[in-house]
Amino acid sequence: MEDIGCNCAKCAVVEKICRLEKGRGPSWCPTKKGESALTEAMERYDDPEIKEFARTASVQEGSCYALREARPFVMIPTKSRMEELIEFSQRMGYKKLGLAFCGGLTHEAAVLSEILEKHGFEVISVSCKVGGIPKERIGVKDEEKICIGEFESMCNPIAQAKILNQAGTDFNVMLGLCIGHDSLFLKFINGLTTVFAVKDRVTGHNPLAALYTSRSYYQRLMKMEFGSPGEMKSLLVSDENP
Ligand code: SF4
Repeated sequence: MEDIGCNCAKCAVVEKICRLEKGRGPSWCPTKKGESALTEAMERYDDPEIKEFARTASVQEGSCYALREARPFVMIPTKSRMEELIEFSQRMGYKKLGLAFCGGLTHEAAVLSEILEKHGFEVISVSCKVGGIPKERIGVKDEEKICIGEFESMCNPIAQAKILNQAGTDFNVMLGLCIGHDSLFLKFINGLTTVFAVKDRVTGHNPLAALYTSRSYYQRLMKMEFGSPGEMKSLLVSDENP
């Protein structure tokens, strides 16, 4: 296999060295090459807090399958992410959870908050629109707004993070933040954070739907290129236009 640098997504080895004790990997396999990042990462797991968090995450992962002792083993997943979030937070002994949500998912945030509270957690929730600051404050022009000509408050992920930092949350949950706003939240939040759902306006917040259908109804992702935003050009080479 050609040396393409680290690209596990394109690894075609069936019995992978990173999954099996006696597996194999391509020449550029980071496991085979013993990348320094691996050593450095393992040193970080020696921090007791990180080790306990990582251990609990793996224990939680294992608990999400039924009949684990049966052979041949067949994966039988049993828990939704909602159940996982509750269980993982309980295992970690968390009491106060932060919820950074998108204003477009206010209803979902209320339900999520209610469920977490029913399971004994204190929830501090902050909408992305907190502060009500107009988008013009960060240089957005009127014609760049969602609804041109109207007042629009900016998404404020830095304020969301700072409010949750001040509240001293044990663990944080992101719900539906937009691309980029989620990045800023993660940059400014102090505590560890998990994602309950990401924003996808078209697929009911399930971006994988576009991948699952990329050979059928979303084949434009494979066959068209995005020019300027909103403009797509065909990647297909026709006889008339080689
Ligand atoms: S770590 Fe190696 S074996 Fe595993 S997916 Fe990446 S390239 Fe393949």
